[in-house]
Amino acid sequence: MGRYVGSVCRLCRREGEKLFLKGERCYTHRCAIERRAYAPGQHGQNKRMKLSNFGLQLREKQKVKRIYGLYEKQFRNYFNKAASSKGVTGHVLLQFLERRLDNVIYQCGFATSRREARQIVGHGYVYLNDHVVNIPSCQIKENDEISIRFKKKGEKAVSDNIEGSKNRTAPAWLTVDAPHFKAKVNRLPSREDIGYPVNEQLIVELYSM
Ligand code: SF4
Repeated sequence: MGRYVGSVCRLCRREGEKLFLKGERCYTHRCAIERRAYAPGQHGQNKRMKLSNFGLQLREKQKVKRIYGLYEKQFRNYFNKAASSKGVTGHVLLQFLERRLDNVIYQCGFATSRREARQIVGHGYVYLNDHVVNIPSCQIKENDEISIRFKKKGEKAVSDNIEGSKNRTAPAWLTVDAPHFKAKVNRLPSREDIGYPVNEQLIVELYSM
């Protein structure tokens, strides 16, 4: 599947809020939202029109999709899976997204962005319960043990990432042993563990139309 290769800051500006897609830069004054807090494009500086209910639902879905770096089809698949699972669909959807291996690597602080985490997984540095896993969408389970092992190089890059992620704390559902590049999943993430503002009900309503 292809991936978005354009400017990720444009995505934040389109949503009108920080989505933290670019690592350390997101925490500095160089963040595009700090400097140009309006939508990208020729008409970006025009006064924002009041969004319809559909518009609100669409923007919320796009925001979450962009945070996790997913395409529509992948996101829709997560929704369909959540809708056919037990529990509150919106909560289950967010849980599926948080349980992605690339997200877990990001949450542990081994990468400064989810995009970078995806690369670390794709390059085969990540071991899940002592087996190498190079699929970023792999769903972690309770009590899973994650470690990063290096081939020839890469250790310095991940050490730098840990240093660069020190202004983020790992969520309570993970125990991170940063010096040894290890982490353990204490429990599955719950709705309270989602660390960004989201109204998942809008997404459920959008897909239920
Ligand atoms: Fe978004 Fe980060 Fe770019 Fe700021 S620096 S606009 S938070 S991706």
